Amino acid sequence: MNWITNYVRPTINSLFSRREVPENLWVKCTECGTMLFHRELSENQQVCTSCGHHMPIRPRERFAALFDGGLFTEVPVVDPLPDPLHFRDQKKYPDRMRTAQKTTGEKEAMLVVEGEIGRTPVIAAAQDFSFMGGSMGMYVGNAVIAACERAVKHRRPLVLFSAAGGARMQEGILSLMQMPRTTVAVQMLREAGLPYVVVLTHPTTGGVTASYAMLGDVQIAEPTALICFAGPRVIEQTIRETLPEGFQRAEYLLDHGMLDRVTPRAAMREELITILRMLLKQPPAVRGDLPPPQPEPAAQAAAVAGAVAPVDQAGGAAPAGRGADGGAGKAAPASSEAGESKA
Ligand SMILES: [Zn+2]
Repeated sequence: MNWITNYVRPTINSLFSRREVPENLWVKCTECGTMLFHRELSENQQVCTSCGHHMPIRPRERFAALFDGGLFTEVPVVDPLPDPLHFRDQKKYPDRMRTAQKTTGEKEAMLVVEGEIGRTPVIAAAQDFSFMGGSMGMYVGNAVIAACERAVKHRRPLVLFSAAGGARMQEGILSLMQMPRTTVAVQMLREAGLPYVVVLTHPTTGGVTASYAMLGDVQIAEPTALICFAGPRVIEQTIRETLPEGFQRAEYLLDHGMLDRVTPRAAMREELITILRMLLKQPPAVRGDLPPPQPEPAAQAAAVAGAVAPVDQAGGAAPAGRGADGGAGKAAPASSEAGESKA
């Protein structure tokens, strides 16, 4: 009886319950329509494996792929006054906030963290478009300031991933005030001589584009990201003209000098490592998975080089290199070989 209730029945149940496949196991690419397995998609940082379309990625997932070993710690952000205007549209603002917090599992639309990228300690901030359109309210303003202050305090570069529909209308003028606040915060970084790298992701619009998202020392964007102040539809309606293909997209802006780089998500980590090390005047990163330099093959190569071109300087330089290894005994036969081959 025990065996039946404890083993057989659960096994049978698990066999049957396995048929109930959750619907969110497959994600449809919004660009090419391919059905993608969610695990494969998250392993590929939410980039379509079929057409390379960059789908939205949550800040935590992005940071897990960005930082060394996926390790990062959160930087605290000062909480602003909740609902200062007692704003109400179809829903009350606090209700909207609660819904967003429940669906995203995040406190607000920006996450500030610190960690190491390629052994370089950095402060990073990312905006969450799934949280009320990543809209810039007082909290996001405080988050940018917290990130900048932390960077200045610890003398670290700041990397910011922007994604926003603009200012948060529920906070009215208070959200617009975040534009000068964040601009001053970025100026603090500049005065401290610290690098500020902005990665613009799809979409970055409105007041965010008009403030901290366009003030980077290096402006990188993800492929096909929409980057604008007023959207193409609004412009089209205003000027009553059809806009060119790919208008306000990352590649178009790169061609017109608004951006420095357009980098696919998969290459972003390496790119940031290179850029940050350049800006911090550090030597280029050496990849740990490459084998350490071997003195023996180098000596052989020098001997071969000597054999091929006897007048070459390599023959003279090689013994010094071998001497540094302390292998004086080894050096003698190697040079005699070279001598033989010369003769
Ligand atoms: Zn696709």
